[in-house]
Amino acid sequence: MKALVYKQPGDVRIEEREIPAPKPGEALIRVAAAGLCGTDRHIADGSYRGAPGIVLGHELAGVVVEVGSGVRDLTVGTAVGVDPNLACRACERCRAGKPHLCANAQAVGVTRDGGLAPYVCVPAELLAPLPAGLSPVHAILGEPLSCVVHALDRAEIKPGGRAAVWGLGTAGIMMIQLLKALGQTRIVGVSHHEDHRRLALRAGATEVMTQEEARIGLEVDLAVEASGSPSAFGPAFDALAPGGTLLVYGVMNPEDTVALKPEAMFRKELRIVASYVGPSTLDRALSLLSAGTVDAELLLGDRLSLGEAREWVLKQGPRRKAKAHVIFEHEEAMP
Ligand SMILES: [Zn+2]
Ligand SMILES: [Zn+2]
Repeated sequence: MKALVYKQPGDVRIEEREIPAPKPGEALIRVAAAGLCGTDRHIADGSYRGAPGIVLGHELAGVVVEVGSGVRDLTVGTAVGVDPNLACRACERCRAGKPHLCANAQAVGVTRDGGLAPYVCVPAELLAPLPAGLSPVHAILGEPLSCVVHALDRAEIKPGGRAAVWGLGTAGIMMIQLLKALGQTRIVGVSHHEDHRRLALRAGATEVMTQEEARIGLEVDLAVEASGSPSAFGPAFDALAPGGTLLVYGVMNPEDTVALKPEAMFRKELRIVASYVGPSTLDRALSLLSAGTVDAELLLGDRLSLGEAREWVLKQGPRRKAKAHVIFEHEEAMP
Protein backbone atom coordinates (compact mmCIF):
# COMPACT_ATOMS: atom_id res chain seq x y z
CA MET A 1 0.00 0.00 0.00
CA LYS A 2 1.07 3.61 -0.53
CA ALA A 3 1.48 5.73 2.61
CA LEU A 4 2.30 9.39 3.31
CA VAL A 5 5.37 9.22 5.56
CA TYR A 6 7.05 11.94 7.63
CA LYS A 7 10.82 11.42 7.34
CA GLN A 8 12.30 14.54 8.98
CA PRO A 9 11.60 18.31 8.99
CA GLY A 10 10.95 19.37 5.39
CA ASP A 11 10.91 15.78 4.10
CA VAL A 12 7.58 13.99 3.57
CA ARG A 13 7.37 11.13 1.07
CA ILE A 14 4.96 8.63 -0.39
CA GLU A 15 6.37 5.20 0.45
CA GLU A 16 5.37 1.64 -0.26
CA ARG A 17 4.41 -0.16 2.99
CA GLU A 18 3.13 -3.62 3.89
CA ILE A 19 -0.41 -3.80 5.29
CA PRO A 20 0.33 -4.04 9.05
CA ALA A 21 -0.84 -6.90 11.27
CA PRO A 22 -2.57 -5.98 14.55
CA LYS A 23 -0.53 -6.53 17.71
CA PRO A 24 -2.26 -7.58 20.96
CA GLY A 25 -4.84 -4.94 21.88
CA GLU A 26 -4.89 -3.40 18.42
CA ALA A 27 -7.34 -3.41 15.53
CA LEU A 28 -6.54 -3.21 11.84
CA ILE A 29 -8.59 -0.41 10.29
CA ARG A 30 -9.41 -0.19 6.60
CA VAL A 31 -9.22 3.59 6.29
CA ALA A 32 -12.20 5.19 4.57
CA ALA A 33 -10.85 8.72 4.71
CA ALA A 34 -8.33 10.91 6.51
CA GLY A 35 -8.35 14.66 7.03
CA LEU A 36 -5.40 17.03 6.75
CA CYS A 37 -4.85 19.74 9.31
CA GLY A 38 -2.43 22.44 10.38
CA THR A 39 -0.83 20.05 12.84
CA ASP A 40 0.37 17.93 9.90
CA ARG A 41 2.08 21.01 8.48
CA HIS A 42 3.66 21.75 11.86
CA ILE A 43 4.95 18.16 12.03
CA ALA A 44 6.27 18.43 8.47
CA ASP A 45 8.17 21.66 9.13
CA GLY A 46 9.50 20.44 12.49
CA SER A 47 7.62 22.91 14.73
CA TYR A 48 5.45 20.12 16.25
CA ARG A 49 7.36 17.03 17.28
CA GLY A 50 6.46 13.99 15.20
CA ALA A 51 8.37 10.71 15.13
CA PRO A 52 10.46 10.33 11.96
CA GLY A 53 9.24 7.45 9.79
CA ILE A 54 5.59 7.49 10.87
CA VAL A 55 2.64 7.57 8.49
CA LEU A 56 0.86 10.92 8.95
CA GLY A 57 -2.90 11.27 9.50
CA HIS A 58 -4.50 11.73 12.94
CA GLU A 59 -8.02 12.51 11.67
CA LEU A 60 -9.42 9.29 10.28
CA ALA A 61 -12.32 6.90 10.19
CA GLY A 62 -12.79 3.48 8.70
CA VAL A 63 -13.89 -0.08 9.28
CA VAL A 64 -12.41 -2.73 11.59
CA VAL A 65 -11.16 -5.61 9.42
CA GLU A 66 -9.12 -7.61 11.95
CA VAL A 67 -8.52 -7.54 15.70
CA GLY A 68 -5.42 -8.56 17.65
CA SER A 69 -5.44 -10.87 20.65
CA GLY A 70 -7.11 -9.57 23.78
CA VAL A 71 -9.49 -7.25 21.95
CA ARG A 72 -13.02 -7.68 23.21
CA ASP A 73 -16.21 -5.72 22.51
CA LEU A 74 -15.12 -4.86 18.98
CA THR A 75 -16.35 -6.82 16.02
CA VAL A 76 -14.94 -7.02 12.53
CA GLY A 77 -17.02 -4.87 10.19
CA THR A 78 -17.69 -2.09 12.73
CA ALA A 79 -17.33 1.45 11.34
CA VAL A 80 -15.22 3.49 13.74
CA GLY A 81 -13.77 6.92 14.42
CA VAL A 82 -10.39 7.29 16.08
CA ASP A 83 -9.26 9.30 19.10
CA PRO A 84 -5.57 9.61 18.19
CA ASN A 85 -4.31 10.34 21.70
CA LEU A 86 -2.94 7.36 23.60
CA ALA A 87 -2.20 7.96 27.28
CA CYS A 88 0.14 5.82 29.40
CA ARG A 89 -2.41 5.55 32.27
CA ALA A 90 0.51 5.47 34.73
CA CYS A 91 2.05 8.94 34.99
CA GLU A 92 1.03 11.55 37.56
CA ARG A 93 -1.17 13.49 35.10
CA CYS A 94 -2.94 10.35 33.91
CA ARG A 95 -3.57 9.32 37.51
CA ALA A 96 -4.91 12.84 38.19
CA GLY A 97 -7.60 12.26 35.54
CA LYS A 98 -5.93 14.31 32.80
CA PRO A 99 -4.88 11.63 30.30
CA HIS A 100 -4.79 14.18 27.45
CA LEU A 101 -1.87 15.88 29.25
CA CYS A 102 -0.04 12.54 29.72
CA ALA A 103 3.72 12.94 30.15
CA ASN A 104 4.33 9.91 27.91
CA ALA A 105 1.56 10.57 25.38
CA GLN A 106 1.63 8.80 22.05
CA ALA A 107 -0.56 9.85 19.16
CA VAL A 108 -1.76 8.15 15.99
CA GLY A 109 -0.32 10.03 13.01
CA VAL A 110 2.18 11.90 15.22
CA THR A 111 4.32 9.40 17.13
CA ARG A 112 2.92 6.19 15.60
CA ASP A 113 1.49 5.33 12.17
CA GLY A 114 -1.63 7.24 11.17
CA GLY A 115 -4.39 7.12 8.59
CA LEU A 116 -2.87 8.63 5.46
CA ALA A 117 -2.61 5.09 4.10
CA PRO A 118 -5.30 2.55 3.16
CA TYR A 119 -4.75 0.53 6.37
CA VAL A 120 -3.52 1.30 9.88
CA CYS A 121 -3.32 -0.57 13.19
CA VAL A 122 -4.75 1.38 16.12
CA PRO A 123 -5.09 0.43 19.82
CA ALA A 124 -8.68 -0.73 20.20
CA GLU A 125 -9.20 1.55 23.22
CA LEU A 126 -8.95 4.57 20.88
CA LEU A 127 -11.83 3.48 18.64
CA ALA A 128 -15.39 4.80 18.85
CA PRO A 129 -18.17 3.08 16.87
CA LEU A 130 -19.87 5.55 14.54
CA PRO A 131 -23.48 6.51 15.31
CA ALA A 132 -25.90 4.89 12.86
CA GLY A 133 -26.17 6.92 9.68
CA LEU A 134 -22.92 8.88 10.09
CA SER A 135 -20.71 8.32 7.04
CA PRO A 136 -17.03 7.52 7.69
CA VAL A 137 -16.02 10.45 5.48
CA HIS A 138 -18.01 12.85 7.68
CA ALA A 139 -16.60 11.07 10.73
CA ILE A 140 -13.04 12.27 9.96
CA LEU A 141 -14.26 15.55 11.44
CA GLY A 142 -14.77 13.78 14.77
CA GLU A 143 -11.19 14.33 15.95
CA PRO A 144 -10.93 18.07 15.25
CA LEU A 145 -14.46 18.51 16.62
CA SER A 146 -13.58 16.60 19.80
CA CYS A 147 -10.84 19.19 20.41
CA VAL A 148 -13.30 22.05 19.81
CA VAL A 149 -15.85 20.46 22.18
CA HIS A 150 -13.18 20.26 24.89
CA ALA A 151 -12.19 23.88 24.26
CA LEU A 152 -15.76 25.11 24.67
CA ASP A 153 -16.10 22.98 27.82
CA ARG A 154 -13.03 24.79 29.16
CA ALA A 155 -14.50 28.20 28.24
CA GLU A 156 -17.62 27.59 30.41
CA ILE A 157 -19.94 29.36 27.99
CA LYS A 158 -23.14 30.89 29.29
CA PRO A 159 -26.28 31.12 27.12
CA GLY A 160 -27.07 34.65 25.99
CA GLY A 161 -23.45 35.73 25.70
CA ARG A 162 -21.51 37.42 22.92
CA ALA A 163 -18.61 35.68 21.23
CA ALA A 164 -16.06 36.32 18.50
CA VAL A 165 -13.78 33.86 16.73
CA TRP A 166 -10.46 34.88 15.14
CA GLY A 167 -9.49 32.42 12.41
CA LEU A 168 -12.23 30.72 10.39
CA GLY A 169 -10.58 27.49 9.32
CA THR A 170 -12.17 24.16 10.21
CA ALA A 171 -11.92 24.75 13.96
CA GLY A 172 -13.26 28.31 13.72
CA ILE A 173 -16.28 27.24 11.68
CA MET A 174 -16.96 24.38 14.11
CA MET A 175 -16.72 26.87 16.99
CA ILE A 176 -19.31 29.10 15.33
CA GLN A 177 -21.76 26.24 14.83
CA LEU A 178 -21.40 25.18 18.46
CA LEU A 179 -21.57 28.76 19.80
CA LYS A 180 -24.88 29.08 17.98
CA ALA A 181 -26.10 25.81 19.50
CA LEU A 182 -24.95 27.08 22.92
CA GLY A 183 -27.24 30.11 22.68
CA GLN A 184 -24.79 32.91 21.97
CA THR A 185 -26.75 35.93 20.75
CA ARG A 186 -23.89 37.69 18.96
CA ILE A 187 -21.36 35.56 17.08
CA VAL A 188 -18.66 37.42 15.17
CA GLY A 189 -16.36 35.65 12.71
CA VAL A 190 -13.03 37.38 12.09
CA SER A 191 -10.78 36.53 9.15
CA HIS A 192 -8.84 38.21 6.37
CA HIS A 193 -10.10 35.55 3.91
CA GLU A 194 -13.34 36.59 2.23
CA ASP A 195 -14.37 32.98 1.47
CA HIS A 196 -13.90 32.08 5.13
CA ARG A 197 -16.09 35.00 6.23
CA ARG A 198 -18.82 33.87 3.83
CA LEU A 199 -18.63 30.34 5.22
CA ALA A 200 -18.88 31.70 8.77
CA LEU A 201 -22.17 33.42 7.90
CA ARG A 202 -23.53 30.14 6.52
CA ALA A 203 -22.36 28.40 9.72
CA GLY A 204 -24.38 30.76 11.93
CA ALA A 205 -22.22 33.83 12.57
CA THR A 206 -24.41 36.89 13.14
CA GLU A 207 -21.74 39.09 11.53
CA VAL A 208 -18.25 38.87 10.08
CA MET A 209 -15.29 41.24 10.12
CA THR A 210 -11.78 41.61 8.81
CA GLN A 211 -9.03 41.69 11.44
CA GLU A 212 -8.77 45.46 10.98
CA GLU A 213 -12.51 45.97 11.53
CA ALA A 214 -12.39 43.79 14.66
CA ARG A 215 -9.83 46.14 16.24
CA ILE A 216 -12.41 48.92 16.53
CA GLY A 217 -15.06 48.87 19.24
CA LEU A 218 -15.78 45.13 19.33
CA GLU A 219 -16.81 43.89 22.79
CA VAL A 220 -17.52 40.24 23.58
CA ASP A 221 -17.73 37.91 26.56
CA LEU A 222 -15.75 35.18 24.80
CA ALA A 223 -12.90 35.79 22.36
CA VAL A 224 -11.56 32.68 20.65
CA GLU A 225 -8.08 32.78 19.13
CA ALA A 226 -8.32 30.00 16.54
CA SER A 227 -6.07 31.45 13.84
CA GLY A 228 -2.71 30.32 15.23
CA SER A 229 -1.35 33.78 14.48
CA PRO A 230 0.21 35.83 17.30
CA SER A 231 -1.12 38.98 15.60
CA ALA A 232 -4.70 37.97 16.49
CA PHE A 233 -3.94 37.47 20.17
CA GLY A 234 -3.80 41.14 21.20
CA PRO A 235 -6.97 42.23 19.37
CA ALA A 236 -8.86 39.21 20.76
CA PHE A 237 -7.73 40.11 24.28
CA ASP A 238 -8.61 43.80 23.78
CA ALA A 239 -12.16 42.90 22.66
CA LEU A 240 -13.03 41.30 26.02
CA ALA A 241 -15.83 42.81 28.07
CA PRO A 242 -15.40 42.88 31.87
CA GLY A 243 -15.52 39.31 33.15
CA GLY A 244 -14.67 37.99 29.69
CA THR A 245 -12.68 34.94 28.67
CA LEU A 246 -9.95 34.57 26.07
CA LEU A 247 -9.80 31.03 24.72
CA VAL A 248 -6.39 30.14 23.30
CA TYR A 249 -6.94 27.48 20.66
CA GLY A 250 -4.81 28.06 17.53
CA VAL A 251 -1.45 26.29 17.32
CA MET A 252 1.37 28.84 17.31
CA ASN A 253 5.08 28.28 16.92
CA PRO A 254 6.96 27.54 20.17
CA GLU A 255 9.05 30.73 19.85
CA ASP A 256 6.04 33.06 19.30
CA THR A 257 5.43 35.66 22.02
CA VAL A 258 2.61 38.17 22.59
CA ALA A 259 2.22 41.31 24.72
CA LEU A 260 -0.65 41.50 27.24
CA LYS A 261 -2.00 44.30 29.44
CA PRO A 262 -2.01 42.98 33.03
CA GLU A 263 -3.78 46.11 34.32
CA ALA A 264 -6.77 45.51 32.00
CA MET A 265 -6.77 41.86 32.99
CA PHE A 266 -6.88 42.88 36.68
CA ARG A 267 -9.41 45.68 36.36
CA LYS A 268 -11.79 43.71 34.11
CA GLU A 269 -11.25 40.35 35.88
CA LEU A 270 -10.40 38.69 32.58
CA ARG A 271 -9.72 35.00 32.22
CA ILE A 272 -7.39 33.25 29.78
CA VAL A 273 -7.98 29.56 29.22
CA ALA A 274 -6.24 27.29 26.77
CA SER A 275 -7.23 23.97 25.33
CA TYR A 276 -4.95 21.30 23.95
CA VAL A 277 -6.63 18.08 22.81
CA GLY A 278 -9.97 16.56 23.68
CA PRO A 279 -10.01 13.91 26.41
CA SER A 280 -12.96 11.54 26.02
CA THR A 281 -14.87 13.99 23.83
CA LEU A 282 -14.87 11.93 20.60
CA ASP A 283 -18.25 10.29 21.25
CA ARG A 284 -19.89 13.68 21.82
CA ALA A 285 -18.24 15.02 18.68
CA LEU A 286 -19.54 12.11 16.60
CA SER A 287 -23.04 12.65 18.07
CA LEU A 288 -22.93 16.33 17.09
CA LEU A 289 -21.98 15.38 13.53
CA SER A 290 -24.61 12.66 13.37
CA ALA A 291 -27.31 15.04 14.63
CA GLY A 292 -26.27 17.74 12.16
CA THR A 293 -25.60 20.27 14.94
CA VAL A 294 -22.23 20.53 13.25
CA ASP A 295 -22.77 20.36 9.49
CA ALA A 296 -20.11 18.09 7.98
CA GLU A 297 -20.97 19.04 4.39
CA LEU A 298 -20.27 22.68 5.18
CA LEU A 299 -16.86 21.73 6.53
CA LEU A 300 -15.56 19.17 4.05
CA GLY A 301 -13.43 20.87 1.43
CA ASP A 302 -11.17 19.59 -1.33
CA ARG A 303 -10.64 15.89 -1.87
CA LEU A 304 -6.94 15.31 -2.58
CA SER A 305 -4.85 12.44 -3.90
CA LEU A 306 -2.04 11.21 -1.65
CA GLY A 307 0.41 13.15 -3.85
CA GLU A 308 -1.61 16.34 -3.47
CA ALA A 309 -1.80 15.70 0.28
CA ARG A 310 2.00 15.54 0.35
CA GLU A 311 2.18 18.92 -1.43
CA TRP A 312 -0.38 20.41 0.97
CA VAL A 313 1.52 19.22 4.02
CA LEU A 314 4.73 20.74 2.62
CA LYS A 315 2.85 24.01 1.83
CA GLN A 316 3.33 23.51 -1.90
CA GLY A 317 0.68 23.53 -4.63
CA PRO A 318 -2.55 25.57 -4.65
CA ARG A 319 -4.47 26.85 -1.61
CA ARG A 320 -7.12 24.23 -0.75
CA LYS A 321 -10.63 24.55 0.57
CA ALA A 322 -10.73 23.20 4.15
CA LYS A 323 -11.20 20.50 5.34
CA ALA A 324 -8.88 19.00 2.71
CA HIS A 325 -8.96 15.22 2.92
CA VAL A 326 -8.03 11.96 1.22
CA ILE A 327 -10.64 9.27 0.51
CA PHE A 328 -9.33 5.73 -0.01
CA GLU A 329 -11.10 3.52 -2.54
CA HIS A 330 -11.26 -0.14 -1.50
CA GLU A 331 -12.47 -3.27 -3.21
CA GLU A 332 -15.25 -4.85 -1.14
CA ALA A 333 -13.09 -7.93 -0.48
CA MET A 334 -11.16 -8.14 2.78
CA PRO A 335 -7.36 -7.87 2.54
ZN1 LIG B 1 -5.82 17.82 13.39
ZN1 LIG C 1 0.38 9.27 31.33
